[in-house]
Amino acid sequence: MTVLRGATLIDGTGAAPVRDAAIIVKDGCIEAVAIGARGPWPPGHDVIDVSGLTVLPGLIDCHDHLAAHGYDLARRWGLDEPASTRHLRTAHAIERALALGYTTVRDAGGLDAGFGKAVEEGLIQGPRLLTAIAIISPIGGIGDSMSPSGHKCVVTADPALPRGVARGVDDVRNVVRTMVRAGAGVIKCATTGGASSRAGHGPRDPAFDRDEMRALVDEAHALGLTVACHALGGPGLRLALEAGVDSIEHGCYLDEDPELIAMMAERGVFLVPTLTVYEYHRESPAPHVRERARVLREHHLETVRRALAAGVRVVAGTDAGGHGHPPNAVELAHLVAAGLTPMQAIQAATGLAAECLGLGRQIGTLEKGKRADLVVVDGDPLADVGILTDPERIRLVLKDGVTQIRR
Ligand SMILES: [Zn+2]
Repeated sequence: MTVLRGATLIDGTGAAPVRDAAIIVKDGCIEAVAIGARGPWPPGHDVIDVSGLTVLPGLIDCHDHLAAHGYDLARRWGLDEPASTRHLRTAHAIERALALGYTTVRDAGGLDAGFGKAVEEGLIQGPRLLTAIAIISPIGGIGDSMSPSGHKCVVTADPALPRGVARGVDDVRNVVRTMVRAGAGVIKCATTGGASSRAGHGPRDPAFDRDEMRALVDEAHALGLTVACHALGGPGLRLALEAGVDSIEHGCYLDEDPELIAMMAERGVFLVPTLTVYEYHRESPAPHVRERARVLREHHLETVRRALAAGVRVVAGTDAGGHGHPPNAVELAHLVAAGLTPMQAIQAATGLAAECLGLGRQIGTLEKGKRADLVVVDGDPLADVGILTDPERIRLVLKDGVTQIRR
């Protein structure tokens, strides 16, 4: 048994912080949370004194691309370096996320299931990984690897990544099953273009029809997986919600259709705004990307405000990869700037994030019976969530009760 004693506890439920908490860990789980308990602890307890520090649930990023390392075509298609170098680059990004207190990451496309296996076997240190494998879209959608010149990427960087293009209702079901066979822990699809999608397929341009999306959601749910849908605006955004997806990724133009925000609140659909990625898109070398990101910014911020006011569960995702791998908690600072309180931002990366991933019963809060995923930080993240981006502040990380990082 391990006891962490003396820290200020932020438990991830949104409850006010509590001083002088003791967290007792047994067999990978939280055995008890005791306030003001001083011991003495029975023999055999490994007591870690974390007085003066803050303990939080292990952090969760709901939208990352750990195997992506740049937006330019050669990088995107894995042409500019040996596959082994690329895989080790991905492993490095995975290790870094853990070192920053992220004990769970949902990968929204591009990461094969082998990385999760490598983490489980201890070949590399990393968060528990829930991967979408590849993004599912119709021809011309964001899951279709086509260059601006019309050349198609025929060689995938990784044979463990099945094609994400689905052609019609029957094929949609087949592609979902193929992702599941390849180890998907979530189904990721796209019903609109985005900021960085090809010219001609922008944020309000739809992809997939009603029957295809119903089949996709139906098949994913039948196989026990949630559906995370990239959707920015226009008819594709409504289509995704009407088809029953579980989270809207980006959702930048939700403010244009308040009925959809009400629908999300009522059905418990999560919003993953991924504010971080648009910081980079606004400075993109590609003029059409830059322009789209600049035009959508005010809508995006208004969307977050309205979603919060309507009671939509807003959760944190960086959408990192194309722009490198900044500290995942950068998103929390953006969420606070967009109007979340620091406590709401922390919930967005802990308790609510776990629910978004369908793991609310296992992780996300520091409560009896949950997996012992936790991070101890030097400082008060409620005064400044930005401290969570500083590796020096991350003093201790436990995953499943096992010490991963200790400084
Ligand atoms: Zn993404």
